[in-house]
Amino acid sequence: MNIKGIIFDFGFTLFHFDNVSIEKYFDCYNRGLQKAVTLLKESKILKEDIIKEFTTKFQKERIEFFRKSVKTKNEFPTSYVFKHVLGTFLGEEIISKLTDEFYLELANLYHSCEEEEWIPYKHTKDTLNKILELKNVKIGVLSNHPHHFTIRNLLKKYDLLKYFDAVVTSAKFGNRKPNPEIFHYTLKKMGLENEQSSSVIMVGDEYADIIGGQRAGLQTILFERQYKFPYEKEIDIPNLRKINNLSEILDFIQ
Ligand SMILES: [Mg+2]
Repeated sequence: MNIKGIIFDFGFTLFHFDNVSIEKYFDCYNRGLQKAVTLLKESKILKEDIIKEFTTKFQKERIEFFRKSVKTKNEFPTSYVFKHVLGTFLGEEIISKLTDEFYLELANLYHSCEEEEWIPYKHTKDTLNKILELKNVKIGVLSNHPHHFTIRNLLKKYDLLKYFDAVVTSAKFGNRKPNPEIFHYTLKKMGLENEQSSSVIMVGDEYADIIGGQRAGLQTILFERQYKFPYEKEIDIPNLRKINNLSEILDFIQ
């Protein structure tokens, strides 16, 4: 079949964490939160005596919002979580003086340590180069991430932004995979129509990529990663196409 586009998931499809573990993830977020708290202290927004309480509350609310996002398929961006939690500590008058840019800066700091850990897979750049050479295949990235700039910054940092016709995140769109709407939105951003979805491949390492891709009418390929996260949803689909190395995707489009 004549393939018109490929949509890649980001985490553990294009990029990965070296020596990944749940502990490493939490450590990144905790270090990032400390940086955000330092800014709040230095800006005299939070006083010393409520820092500990704020930190605990933020960590708790971040987990709650994540659970809610998985359940409802609505994304709650990190900047929104900061605004919400600060709202429970500060008066309306102070909250209304803080700008959207300031909340985005807090989110930047929160995700800054995570940004240092993500690196592209060995075959990511070569594979994107080869797809680009085909000329008639559009390329998109679609990530369930609560901070759009993390994905954009990382693609820029590794000189990969130039390959993509669309960079879509749940943080910016508002809904998450497997909601078919975010896949259709990505097609549109890539310059493709919903009617062309059966000529587009979604590649990802998770249930949300494969089930969402199928619901949206796309072809799907599972990138089988080595590391298994706890509580992962099983993908029970017969004859599911799988790859172990990103460059294998080329066999499906040439
Ligand atoms: Mg992933």
